[in-house]
Amino acid sequence: MKKFYIETFGCQMNVHDSEKVAGTLLSMGYSLADTPDEADLLLYNTCSVRDKAEQKVYSRLQQFKRKTNGRLIGVLGCVAQQEGMRIFERAPYVSLVCGSASYGRLPELIAGLERGDRRVAGLDLDADDTFETPYTRRDSPHRAYITVIEGCDKSCAYCVVPFTRGRQKSRASRSILEEARQLADSGYTEIQLLGQNVSSYRDPSVGGCDFAALIAEVAGIGGLRRVRFATSHPRDFDRAIVDAIDASPVLCDHVHLPVQSGSDSVLARMQRLYTRDAYLLRIGWLKGARRKIAISTDMIVGFPGESEADFGQTMSLLEEVQFDSMFSFRYSPRPGTSALQLDGQVLEVEAGRRLTLLQEMQRGIQIRKNSELVGAVEEVMVEGHNSATGQWIGRTSQNRVLNFLCSPTRLVREGQYLSVRVTRAGPNSLTGEAVDLL
Ligand code: SAM
Ligand code: SF4
Repeated sequence: MKKFYIETFGCQMNVHDSEKVAGTLLSMGYSLADTPDEADLLLYNTCSVRDKAEQKVYSRLQQFKRKTNGRLIGVLGCVAQQEGMRIFERAPYVSLVCGSASYGRLPELIAGLERGDRRVAGLDLDADDTFETPYTRRDSPHRAYITVIEGCDKSCAYCVVPFTRGRQKSRASRSILEEARQLADSGYTEIQLLGQNVSSYRDPSVGGCDFAALIAEVAGIGGLRRVRFATSHPRDFDRAIVDAIDASPVLCDHVHLPVQSGSDSVLARMQRLYTRDAYLLRIGWLKGARRKIAISTDMIVGFPGESEADFGQTMSLLEEVQFDSMFSFRYSPRPGTSALQLDGQVLEVEAGRRLTLLQEMQRGIQIRKNSELVGAVEEVMVEGHNSATGQWIGRTSQNRVLNFLCSPTRLVREGQYLSVRVTRAGPNSLTGEAVDLL
């Protein structure tokens, strides 16, 4: 039996795409290799959102090359879409190049390779269908990802996603709900709804629902205990989403709402389509919710034209919102994006200085916010065990990691829900003890 191995980089969408690709290959009679060395087909699912992604892919392919020995090598994902046929020139030992919008064609492309085709490519960005497959091979038996929307119709000046994932396409709610029900029936208790911009979801069926109605329906499925979603775009994030969270405790107490900058002029140059005030209005809705909703964000520093005063606005936004967590990045110029035409480049060393200041401030906020939870009892879903520390690893509804000790006589297993009292707080995680220990 032929074996495949898939290595994945990047966001949750890539992780889930790899689950779907793996399922597709299993359905074609392949089996999963434990190591790249055992595989007949090596797939590399790539990300090109930041840094020198293309160079990294080529140098990783060089390492793969040594393992060729008649094996087939394929490049998937954003770098595949972005570099296209150039990959065959620069890495002639690659046989397959396929962007995410063409994954529906993978069975046909792989069948071509099996028939002896030297090179096959799926680079069409205009495919009408979203990549739906009944064969997803899920990595976790407890938490499942479901794609609700593919691609992105925004045009943020720094971002390659619209070029690598193509136009936005919502999936029919009927199909999403069917998949969610099947998952609940087979024992999954947590579902994460995925898309580059889930808040602009609109069911393509006649009279179709919006995102707020969709999450309410998914949360109503019997057997599910947690439903999360990412990523929301502030421009499309409406009050009805907060109302839906208010109405159902199954919808987790966490919203990821990337802001990117606290300065109106930088937001305009980024083409983010909202102002600081509009963003703060949405934060007000979230803070006014019945349950305490944790808010996380993404920030970019050193975007072209970002002055010291603009950066000061970003720092003041952090102070004002008090985010529960933040992913922060130095602006990275990306091929084909409109930001390449902007003047006012910020020196790398200056962008690095700003990033450090921002992260230091956020670290202080997280220490303070996490400390407020000491003494509280939180429900966690058990995600694993750390044999080095003897602690179990759990995650709260607010998406905080809570490492905890539990009586050795108590049978704990992954996927279980437990009440844990928080005893200590760090900047990035909490520590606690399962309540029956106290
Ligand atoms: N669709 C999401 C949104 O609108 O926020 C996120 C997409 S992107 C994969 C995830 C994050 O990467 C962005 O929120 C942004 O902070 C960061 N990012 C994207 N392009 C970047 C670039 N060229 N330089 C630095 N950070 C970037
Ligand atoms: Fe990129 Fe903007 Fe689309 Fe997010 S909304 S994927 S940042 S273009």
